[in-house]
Amino acid sequence: MKEPEVHRFGHPGAGRRRAPAFAKGRQVDAAALDEVRALLGDRPRRRDLLIEFLHLIQDRYSRLSGRHLAALADEMRLALVEVYEVATFYAHFDVAVDDAEDAVPPAVTIRICDSISCALAGCSDLLEALSDIEEPDIRVVCAPCMGRCDTAPVAEVGHRHLDRATAASVLAAARSGHTEPLLPPYPDLAAARAGGAYAALEACRSGTKPIDAVLATLEATGLRGMGGAGFPTHRKWRLVRAEPGPRQFALNADEGEPGTFKDRYFLERHPHAVLEGALIGAWAVEAEQAFIYLRDEYPAAREILLREIAALEAAGLVAPGYLELRRGAGAYICGEESAMIESIEGKRGLPRNRPPYVAQAGLFGKPTLVNNVETAYWIREILTNGGDGFADAGRHGGKGWRSYSVSGRVREPGVKRAPAGITLNELVAEYCGGMAVGHTLKGYLPGGASGGILPASLADLPLDFGALEKHGCFIGSAAIVVLSQEDDIRDVALNLMRFFEDESCGQCTPCRAGTEKAVSLMDEEIWDTGLLGELSAVMRDASICGLGQAAPNPLHCLLKYFPDDVPK
Ligand code: SF4
Repeated sequence: MKEPEVHRFGHPGAGRRRAPAFAKGRQVDAAALDEVRALLGDRPRRRDLLIEFLHLIQDRYSRLSGRHLAALADEMRLALVEVYEVATFYAHFDVAVDDAEDAVPPAVTIRICDSISCALAGCSDLLEALSDIEEPDIRVVCAPCMGRCDTAPVAEVGHRHLDRATAASVLAAARSGHTEPLLPPYPDLAAARAGGAYAALEACRSGTKPIDAVLATLEATGLRGMGGAGFPTHRKWRLVRAEPGPRQFALNADEGEPGTFKDRYFLERHPHAVLEGALIGAWAVEAEQAFIYLRDEYPAAREILLREIAALEAAGLVAPGYLELRRGAGAYICGEESAMIESIEGKRGLPRNRPPYVAQAGLFGKPTLVNNVETAYWIREILTNGGDGFADAGRHGGKGWRSYSVSGRVREPGVKRAPAGITLNELVAEYCGGMAVGHTLKGYLPGGASGGILPASLADLPLDFGALEKHGCFIGSAAIVVLSQEDDIRDVALNLMRFFEDESCGQCTPCRAGTEKAVSLMDEEIWDTGLLGELSAVMRDASICGLGQAAPNPLHCLLKYFPDDVPK
């Protein structure tokens, strides 16, 4: 007997799936698919390579068009939304949201840094001077810190950075077509080996320096992580080693804190010291693979690392593919280690909730040792030359050497290797040639945008981990920005809060909405200090990661130490 036909919604055939009258979603364009396949070549279509592939497409076509994103999603067997959400998360990806915008963008993009050190140096005048450029091949945009704060104001033309930029120098560079990065002089592998490079690594690998002795040396020197948190290096290594293998290693080369540029200095000037230190770290935890996550703002460092990693492979010092360089894409939050790991995995850089810590479950779910660039430099230095020279340094209770990134109102800004614990007054007088002509000290940022602002009356505090917290500040990555009587601290605090608003990853409301609200309140002619205080308390207490928790620090310091600069 024939089954009765079920009419679910009252019309014949409603219970059966019918072919749609038209294809849903964005369809894959055959030509775009061919173009994407040609670019990807025989690279494995792994999810963790998504950001690398997006870079390949953008480098070739200047923009990520909808047709290429759909083709990439198809080729990688990913949902289109996954590709879009990653592409749109990162500031350096220029995503065309519909075909009407698929037109090729201007050939040259000029980026003007508007973060704090460049703001002090007059980047707004530079932007103003370039604002009425009407050349179809050139566009001008603002950008966050480029890690060259000692030569502010800074511009980037294509991939070439211009120090102490002027409108004339920027336009000349843009019109010349010379937009590739300029590489500074540096010792290549042959020169580095002639100076003793990789002897410490080989001693570790051969057993001449056993792991217990290496750990004991690092412990005796008191070396701590130089990325900001200051966690003792030997303890971090021990924690990862205590986890079951296989393990991973990642070098965090994503310094993005406004005012910080020391890691760029080490990568560009001493790449093999950094690479050797990183390989020793990877050896220490018996990592199955080692990654370097490099911020996209450092194209010269990228070129150097690509060359020198290839040289290491050719020399047999590292197995092909063991040391993998990954390129960031313009997201400050990826300097946070769990966000960096998400990014290496090809995802948006959203910080993870902890526990588990990355030492327990990091890259691809495996125990992961994350070290900072400067830390790697000191590891190699200590294991090559002995730890005494490091351990004996330090002032006012500090131990070891640090690299302070100094910018702002001093005569000689730059990376200063000075004893840990040195004071701001000592640093400026002994290492920076004093204050800039015509400027007297009014205050300083001891730890970049997030480390707060201290007044001149507290310039004799040791610049070291744990010494500034009771004053509402921290040293972090030792990004020292010196301020003078010429500077309105309200403008400084507003600049910093705008930076955090732009860079919030948006994952949690206290930070996402809090930074935006704080900017609007701080833009008022008269401040509601009570409301600002409540807002910053919520951000500090309820944000997931350090960005949201530290974002109110400059505001707090302004209210506490610089009441004359608070709009009333
Ligand atoms: Fe993202 Fe800010 Fe929350 Fe951190 S605090 S997870 S940056 S929204």
